Amino acid sequence: MKICVLPGDGIGPEIIAEAVRVLQALDLKMEMEEALLGGCAVDATGDPYPVATQKLALAADAILLGAVGGPKWDSNPREQRPERGLLGIRKQLGLFANLRPAILYPELANASSLKPEVVAGLDILIVRELTGDIYFGQPRGIEMRNGERFGFNTMHYTESEIRRILRVAFDAARKRNRKVCSVDKMNVLECTQLWRDVATETGREYPDVELSHMLVDNAAMQLVKNPRQFDVMVTGNMFGDILSDEASMLTGSIGMLPSASLDANNKGLYEPSHGSAPDIAGKGVANPLATILSVAMMLRYTFANEVAARRVEDAVKKVLAQGLRTGDIYEAGMKKVGTREMGDAVLAAM
Ligand code: NAD
Repeated sequence: MKICVLPGDGIGPEIIAEAVRVLQALDLKMEMEEALLGGCAVDATGDPYPVATQKLALAADAILLGAVGGPKWDSNPREQRPERGLLGIRKQLGLFANLRPAILYPELANASSLKPEVVAGLDILIVRELTGDIYFGQPRGIEMRNGERFGFNTMHYTESEIRRILRVAFDAARKRNRKVCSVDKMNVLECTQLWRDVATETGREYPDVELSHMLVDNAAMQLVKNPRQFDVMVTGNMFGDILSDEASMLTGSIGMLPSASLDANNKGLYEPSHGSAPDIAGKGVANPLATILSVAMMLRYTFANEVAARRVEDAVKKVLAQGLRTGDIYEAGMKKVGTREMGDAVLAAM
């Protein structure tokens, strides 16, 4: 197991330190090596995804990432922004499938802004296409046209790009409740009419999985109205970006949510769903559980080690049941702990 560790910016190094301790405690044969990505890489080399990091990432089986970005780099030229590093690594490694579970742990039911009876037991998997769509489409830019500034981007998908992400969703659904909801905007966008056609065709390969289609605006509403109707949701890059954040907020605790981005051979980049939280960076209060749960996803999807994955996930459930809470998920009557103490508790529970 070769793991490339990219702590990144903000709270990244603090939460990664705990996840690395969890990996070490599993006592598996592995090599871990650290490198720079994001703002810290811009500071050190002028490049958010330096060549040395690229080499390490290409050679690794899996990558564990904290988070990148922060106000310090917000006014940098576009190619020197931390997010460029993130888009660069996803593109270079062909990480086209982003898996984001939104699970509401029973102990945290009050953390949601929705009524407990609407969200209790929530368990959705959002599968987002990650390397195509309007985020990468050419032509793009801002230029002068007819005496005024004109901004433009291009949305496009090939049918093979759509088919491979749909297959990831259907395969995942087979391990869950066998329901896939494909989200598009076919009433307005031709590109997503193609998405719907290919989804329907791919669905015929999976007669044991129920396929439904939903327009993205309705999907945004249904996620807050009746989120438990969903099992696996699959959609393109831009819609997935927005819907996966919305779904994660249903749980009320972004500090709890892991994610995986996979290529066609299950090589993966694993990271928490949240950002670098510059407002709390360096204070030792960040919740490390999303990153620790990302380690569990790594064990499951890249290393096919379900036993080790469960060991990590069960330890997280145990510390929640013990009443330990970082500030983001704290409620009266619980024990408030910092990043390191939460890591210690997970290690003890393991
Ligand atoms: P954020 O997720 O960093 O923070 C949103 C809020 O949630 C903040 O109040 C933060 O303190 C809190 N929070 C986030 N993670 C937490 C944790 N583990 N424990 C406790 N509280 C936590 O989102 P943002 O403020 O919109 O973005 C901050 C920076 O992160 C920006 O530069 C943004 O570009 C970057 N970002 C990076 C990624 C990534 O690396 N994948 C993703 C999203 C945002």
